[in-house]
Parts: sequence; C-alpha cells; structure tokens
Amino acid sequence: MEIKEYARTLAASDSAVREVIEQRETLWLNPRLLPFEVVDGVTQLVVSDEDIQDAEARLARFAPYIRKCFPETEETEGLIESPLAEIPAMQQALCGEEGCEIPGRLFLKMDSHLAIAGSVKARGGIYEVLKHAEELALAAGKLTVTDNYEKLAAPEMKEFFGKYTVQVGSTGNLGLSIGIMSAFLGFNVKVHMSADAKQWKKDMLRSKGVNVIEYEDDYSRAVAEGRRQSDADPMSYFVDDEYSVDLFLGYAVAAGRLAEQFEEQGLTVDEEHPLIVYVPAGVGGAPGGVCYGLKRRFGDNVHVFFTEPVMCPSLLVGFASQRYEQANVHDFGISGETHADGLACASPSGFVTRICNNLVAGDFTVADYRLYDYMRMLMETESIRIEPSSCASFVGPVNLMGKGVAYLEKEGITSEKLARSTQICWATGGRLVPEEVWEQYLNTHLK
Ligand SMILES: *Cc1c(COP(=O)(O)O)cnc(C)c1O
Repeated sequence: MEIKEYARTLAASDSAVREVIEQRETLWLNPRLLPFEVVDGVTQLVVSDEDIQDAEARLARFAPYIRKCFPETEETEGLIESPLAEIPAMQQALCGEEGCEIPGRLFLKMDSHLAIAGSVKARGGIYEVLKHAEELALAAGKLTVTDNYEKLAAPEMKEFFGKYTVQVGSTGNLGLSIGIMSAFLGFNVKVHMSADAKQWKKDMLRSKGVNVIEYEDDYSRAVAEGRRQSDADPMSYFVDDEYSVDLFLGYAVAAGRLAEQFEEQGLTVDEEHPLIVYVPAGVGGAPGGVCYGLKRRFGDNVHVFFTEPVMCPSLLVGFASQRYEQANVHDFGISGETHADGLACASPSGFVTRICNNLVAGDFTVADYRLYDYMRMLMETESIRIEPSSCASFVGPVNLMGKGVAYLEKEGITSEKLARSTQICWATGGRLVPEEVWEQYLNTHLK
C-alpha cells in the first residue's frame, strides 16, 4: 500500500505518525488540546448542554416503554445503563504482566453489558431510533410527549411503524443495536454490513427479521451504499454513523449518568482527583460522544484518550493530519485490517474529529494480539467477559506512566494527584457474543 505525500510530510515532524506508518504501538498526544473554557462556547454552538438534556428527557419518556418491553431493564427502571465496576485484580495483573505501574483506582465501565444490544451502541443507536419513532408518531398525532410511552407497544403502533424503513451501515454492533430496536418497534430494517462484520451478528439480525445486506468492501462502502438506497426511498430513514448528531447525543448522555455513579460510589473528580478515561474508537461516534459529555461535565479535570488498533488508527490520522474525514489509514500505508471488528473504520467521522479537535487528550494504539491477552486476563482476574475490540481500552492505563509521561507533565498531573485518580477503561461490547464464539476468542493466540 502506497504512502501518500501528506502522510510522509506529517511523519517528518510527528514521531507518533512515524510509528503509525511503521505499524508499531504508539501514543499520539493532541497538540491542539485547549483548556475547556476556551472551547466551551464554540462547541456549544454545535451541541449544547440543552441538547444533551433534551436527549436525557427523551430517554426518560421512553423508559416506561423500554421497561415494559425489555424486562432486563427492570433494575434500571427502563434506562439503558451499565455498571461501573472496580477491577483491582485486573489492575494488579496488568501491572504484573507488563511490569508497569497503574496508580489510583481502576474501573471498568461495563457498556459491554448494556441491555438490548450488548454494546456501547445501545446508547447512540437506540437513542436515534427512539427519537425517529417519536417524531413520526408525534407528527401523525398518535402520541403526545405527556403520554405514557408504553402505548407504543400496541399492535396498531407496530403496524404504523411498519410503513417506514430504517437503514444503517455497520461493522456489526451498530447494526445490532439499530436492527434489534427498529425491528422491535415494527420498522422494516435494512442493515448494510461491511466485510469485517462477524457472521453471528448477521445471523442474529436475520433471526429478528432484519434484512442484512453484505458487502465485500470495508465499512465506508457499506455506509455509502446504505445512504444511497435510503435517500432513494422517501419512507426510509438512514442512521448516519459518520455524521449523526443524534447518535452522538445518545452517547453523550453517558456522562451525567456516570457522574451519578461517582456520587453513589463516593468517587471525587476535581483538580486534585483527576479522572482519566480510555475509550476504544472505530468511526468515532461512541468515544466522541462520551468524551464530549465528560468534558462538558468535568472540564479540565477529565482526560479522555481514544484507543485504536495499530492497523486502523483512523481518528489518530484524522486529528493529526487535520484532514478529518478526508484522512484514511490506507494513506499511511496500513491495511485497516484488524481483529477488532468494532474498530475497523479506515476513515474517521468528520463530525467527531472536528468537535473533539481541542478536547481529546490523545490516542493510544494497540497491537491485535494484546486484545486477546487482555480479554483472557479480565476473565481470569474478574470473571468478566468483554469482546476483543473492547479490550483496546486496557492499553491506556498500562502505558500512561510510560508513553504518557509527557502528557502528565504538561498537564501538571503529579504523582500525588495520580495516586488519587480514577481511571476508567470503557468496555464497549460483549454480552451478546455466542458461547461458541467465546471459545474461539479464548483460543486465539496471535503471538
Ligand atoms: C462501535 C464500537 C466501538 C467504537 O464506536 P465508534 O462509534 O465506531 O467509534 C468500540 N467498541 C465496540 C465493541 C464497538 O462496537
């Protein structure tokens, strides 16, 4: 694969980009990170606090419906929310294995176990489908915002939604979340799946009556084709992973809920108690929305790193080159092929790379073989199963005190502060993985 001119130029002045080209693990630090107060005003023009509150309120309106239809959400009263679990044994094992130091307390945000879709996509994907359904039902006079939304489960509502189609392009998990929720509401659903998508995800969707269309190409092609087909059909709605603000809002809601969990668990976040968060990134929607929500809530006291596969660091190259969605990992001579199917997007979201341009702390890359090692380690130490893509988040805490030292110094995060810090690895998927696929994962050794 040929390296483009702009990539070479960038590599000459940026050692992290050189390491990307050399297919080695790296940490790219964001030279454009700004104090939150500087960025606050401008970003609010795009996505405001009211927008996030509006999304929270919408999810609250739907809670009675979700609770009624998905008994697994009984405990959270119809909210799709995940536990925040401390993982001290994993923390110790990570240190032992790598001979590193992980200060503070280490937690796992278990979006891997979210209701309905079993991945972080249950936040953004389901939110966008619910919002679309609400808009249609309101416009048709079949619903008012003060109604009990349980009525959406009625057969006549399913029939109503059955006149409409929802489409999405996906590497797998977004398709699962959009597909399961849309089909449940009664929509016709078409999911355009890239070559990276796992067979079991296609099978599961088909079993729920979803029309799965398969492509030989990568994710961008599946999205482009889905968008084209949807645009040609006036009754069809396309969930656009590359540009959707609604998806982003669904993810951003996580921050307020996390703040409540901190309160319940007695965790403090302030200047003396930094919060450091690591989120695996594919096209960027999920980590971008989470990052944005967290920055809005915790400002400079939260430090958000994205994590990506060595062979597919699309957000890294989007930020570093300032070409946003015009950047592509192929331009850096790398294949984009990775075992982390949830992270296999060769070009990043233009929306996310722009809105997070001055907010994200940096981007760690991780070799595929480690994903399986981390996955086994988490199983052995904490008896928690998460899928390989999710395990990309562990590269963060392992390397913070090594590759990340320059960042800690620049941000004035002293070892005293670190000792009081909270570090969170965002577990982005896993609950729906079938038993036989787990067996395969557990037996995969790439090195
Ligand atoms: C989708 C996904 C991500 C990343 O989300 P993007 O919005 O594509 O950046 C991370 N992990 C898993 C398991 C996913 O399915």
